[in-house]
Amino acid sequence: MTRTAVRTQVSITTPDAKTPDVRMDAFETFVRHAPFAAALVDNAFRLTAVSPDWERHGLSPDLEIGDDFRRALHNAEDLESLERCVAFGESFSRYRSISLNGAEPRIWRTEFAATAMETGRTLAVIVTARDVSGYAETALKAERDQQRLKMALELDDLMVREYDLRTGEIYCSGTSPELEKWCLFKTDPLEIVHPDDREKMAELVRNRKDGEAQVFEFRLNRDDGVETWVRSVGKKFLGADGKPERLVNLFKDITDRRRHTEAVENLAFRDSLTGLPNRAYFNRKFQEAVDASEMMGELFGLIMIDVDHFKDINDTLGHDAGDALLKRLAEMLHAAFRSGDTVARLGGDEFAVILRGLHSEADMMRPVNALQDLLRRPIEHGGRSFSVSASIGAALHGDPDADPHHMIKNADIALYRAKDEGRNRSVVFDPSMRSALEQRVELLRDVRAAIAANEFVLYYQPIVDIASHSVSGFEALMRWDHPEQGVLTPDRFLAAFEDQDLSLKLGDMAFETALKQMREWLDQGVEFGRVAVNISAAQFRSGRLAQEVQERLARWNVPCERLTIEVTENVYMGWGSEMVSDTVRQLHRAGVMIALDDFGTGYASLANLRQFPIDRLKIDKSFVQNAEDAAIVKAVITLGSSMGMKVVAEGVEDQGQLDALADYGCDQIQGYHFSRPMPAGMVPGFLEGFGR
Ligand code: C2E
Ligand code: CA
Ligand code: CA
Repeated sequence: MTRTAVRTQVSITTPDAKTPDVRMDAFETFVRHAPFAAALVDNAFRLTAVSPDWERHGLSPDLEIGDDFRRALHNAEDLESLERCVAFGESFSRYRSISLNGAEPRIWRTEFAATAMETGRTLAVIVTARDVSGYAETALKAERDQQRLKMALELDDLMVREYDLRTGEIYCSGTSPELEKWCLFKTDPLEIVHPDDREKMAELVRNRKDGEAQVFEFRLNRDDGVETWVRSVGKKFLGADGKPERLVNLFKDITDRRRHTEAVENLAFRDSLTGLPNRAYFNRKFQEAVDASEMMGELFGLIMIDVDHFKDINDTLGHDAGDALLKRLAEMLHAAFRSGDTVARLGGDEFAVILRGLHSEADMMRPVNALQDLLRRPIEHGGRSFSVSASIGAALHGDPDADPHHMIKNADIALYRAKDEGRNRSVVFDPSMRSALEQRVELLRDVRAAIAANEFVLYYQPIVDIASHSVSGFEALMRWDHPEQGVLTPDRFLAAFEDQDLSLKLGDMAFETALKQMREWLDQGVEFGRVAVNISAAQFRSGRLAQEVQERLARWNVPCERLTIEVTENVYMGWGSEMVSDTVRQLHRAGVMIALDDFGTGYASLANLRQFPIDRLKIDKSFVQNAEDAAIVKAVITLGSSMGMKVVAEGVEDQGQLDALADYGCDQIQGYHFSRPMPAGMVPGFLEGFGR
């Protein structure tokens, strides 16, 4: 750099100079005013002029103008260079470490530039010196960085490929023979990438932004089929003009690491009971399916599976049986789905399957139906055989405009629908289902708030004894005293009775309110007979219902004989029937009356129900109100009485129905004919008016 600067300045002066003396004058003037360290030496080696910097740095401290410059050179090489410069007009430059005035040595670049005449004879030599310590350090550092980088590459089995985008030159250095193939290609060589990773790689190349590093892990496409994983970082560097200049890729063989992480992931991503992938793995696979569908429009399906009444199986047959069932189900899932499908256990009795590369809904439902078939076979455990069923919700992602992330929610909605329709079935999601579920979620939220705000109350409907024409008691029926919509009947909040948590809260509330009311009536001398409270399946689950009821009765000091509990036959027949039967038996022993509600609507026959202590049989209002069912009503009354049960007819709305029932020998009547359910405050008045 120094040389060019000097030459340029010299050549400006040269053409105008006519004689050597004039030229010499010009050189002297130039050197004296040079803004850097310079000295002028004539062809007899005499020092002719120095620049202020030269003097300031003390580059030739012992020399005066006119002295032999060679005395300033302590190095034979420099001496020879200067002589050659004068003799042959050759220019030299070299780096020297020079310590001036006893200071730290610094690196100087000195230069001898011959100023030649037309004849070729050297007239003088311009000597320049520049402190290049800073620059030299950088150069040295760059060289060291290079060395370090090289060592790092060697140590880490890395391969570098540097592609000059302007000249097309490729520089490669590396160790892996597999990776070296990369250097044979001018463009990003998709050929050597595993087919499954090509799309992703192509995508990456498409989106590559200049100056931004991209990291990508992919498999190599190897003829021998050995799986080789490579991690690459690529970056396009810009030139001084801001345009892409070089593409640099670093590659590393990460097969070992990949294998290791896979082994660790196996631990982290597997469910230990069934050996199936767990929720975390499912989430990853789901994301992959979403990516594939977004990139290539791939059709994929999602299936959610929920074992029907699993909790009851666990509670009644024990956890061993529950575990056995889950394992068996995992096997069935394996048998029903393709090996490429992701079958995962999300938790508890919840399973999910991701099916990729589908062509139609039928593709998705084929394995689902196969699974339902397998489920029909009984499961053997501990010498017992039990049957199990599952509810299945399925969703298909085909609509390119829809957000595939909604798939999980959609499949859940379909699953909910399958359960709602009576379980043991599969339902494919349809957009119209969403609003139903959203309404339900909203309702449950409102009910929760209403419980906290004490908006639930009990209404009482009398049950009349036909023979004595007296009120034998009341059924407590729940009402929601809604601040805006008025008094709502249970059909407006039935979903709350099906929700495990809410039905327990509502059940608690019903017991508490009814007992408090009975206590009040007892204190006031209101002769109400008995109060019947409805119980939902969930309330039996804890196994403590009998104790709880007895504790409550004791707390309110209400005799057991004042209470009836109404249980539907489906509760008796469902899972956990042993627990229900125990609870009912205990309560019956304590004196609580047991009524079988909605009789005739379920699947139970009286023979099935023999084992349970049932005092009252309530014939469902659908039979009572349908004249064509008279024969059934008659038969039920006859059977009931023969088994020592009193029979109550529900939904009696007119005198005709009442007369017919009396004729058949029915014991008690409940219905609008006598009274609609009424608030507690109206009960004393009703009792007074009745029978008078
Ligand atoms: P349910 O136990 O069968 O109650 C009898 C239903 O028949 C009541 O409906 C009652 O108002 C209605 N009913 C009575 N007489 C007549 C009549 O002559 N004609 C007609 N059309 N209907 C009549 P409600 O009060 O709407 O209750 C509906 C269902 O909600 C109940 O059926 C019961 O299954 C459930 N439920 C009500 N309160 C509770 C409760 O506290 N806990 C639980 N678990 N369920 C309850
Ligand atoms: Ca009832
Ligand atoms: Ca009923």
